[in-house]
Amino acid sequence: MPSTLTHFECSKTGERYPKDELLNLSKTGAPLLARYDLKKAAETLKPENLANRRNDMWRYHEVLPFTDDSSLVTLNEGFTPLRPVDRLRKETGFSRLFMKDESVNPTGSFKARGLAAAVNGAIQRGVKSFAIPTAGNAGGALSAYAALAGKPCHIFMPADSPKAFITECRSNGAHVELVDGLITDCGKIVASRKDAEGWHDISTLKEPFRLEGKKTMGYELFEQLGRNLPDTIIYPTGGGTGLIGMWKAFAEMKELGWIQESAKLPKMISVQAAGCAPIVRAFENGDDSADFWEDAHTAASGLRVPAAVADFLILRAIRESGGTAVAVDDETMIRETHRLNKFTGVFSAPEGGACLAVLDRLEKEKIISKNDAIVLFNTGSGYKYLEALTL
Ligand SMILES: *Cc1c(COP(=O)(O)O)cnc(C)c1O
Repeated sequence: MPSTLTHFECSKTGERYPKDELLNLSKTGAPLLARYDLKKAAETLKPENLANRRNDMWRYHEVLPFTDDSSLVTLNEGFTPLRPVDRLRKETGFSRLFMKDESVNPTGSFKARGLAAAVNGAIQRGVKSFAIPTAGNAGGALSAYAALAGKPCHIFMPADSPKAFITECRSNGAHVELVDGLITDCGKIVASRKDAEGWHDISTLKEPFRLEGKKTMGYELFEQLGRNLPDTIIYPTGGGTGLIGMWKAFAEMKELGWIQESAKLPKMISVQAAGCAPIVRAFENGDDSADFWEDAHTAASGLRVPAAVADFLILRAIRESGGTAVAVDDETMIRETHRLNKFTGVFSAPEGGACLAVLDRLEKEKIISKNDAIVLFNTGSGYKYLEALTL
């Protein structure tokens, strides 16, 4: 399973870092981006060659950072369905609407992609134990891959996280500490203890591999739409890994020759909760980075991220794509989640409902139109959010 990884690169300064080291942020404190020899990758990574490959995200191995097939830690994450959602199309009037259904991933959310990538990347570079601050799904995913690999992991989660997340992590054998605070408070604890404890910190975008796992969603969309990209992607944004990851994938696909240099890329629409919308506020103010969001609250745990390390990369991708950022209040989000589920049969997470909630508004603002190819992301399973979804 050859990879064409050449090095990592600082997203602020472009400084290079060696590919074989276990890394976190760059010296300037910015996320590191994996870089590949895409000319070489293009020799074998061709859309027409993919049909017979494995049905998970590892089918794109040339542009993933792992080489050792025999020891790959995987629950077969990724390559999730792109659902045509016919009844929802009729209900909403959007004739080419799709749902990228990430709820069928192992551990019930797309966090499986990023954490599978991060655990493999770290194991190949000699990791001993993991630590993560999480709003819920990332911890669940880490607990699964750490269990599969037989490595200890330490999970720091807000005490008021939905019960399913806490139970899942503990059942998978993780050390769980409940924190009276938010994911950012959990992050501070990990940062202050990791050196003494020998933990590898796999916070969102504080290590380079989670992004690589999540970028595979961009490759999948292209394959699943018959070698086309959609006009618009509606994405519920917390730390922004998936949004930045897909944007990175599209840039790689140009270099791979999958799409033309001049090709129009999808508009990236970032959806946040009204109770925690730092990216929306920064986007509206025309800022390049986002201020901390005080008193963050929302039932959509994945969106309860008051500060994102890669805020500048999220904002850049939204703007380069001609997209926008919009907020949805919780009451609307939950109502729209039930509507989503009623017309698709997919028991979706509130984050998925948030995406459905913005369709009409985006059409009124002329950012999308009824006949555009639109992909809305259902990023997780409703089973993890029973408290919020109980009727
Ligand atoms: C983490 C999470 C998100 C946000 O994902 P990012 O790529 O970090 O922005 C959205 N939905 C769910 C269900 C999540 O767990």
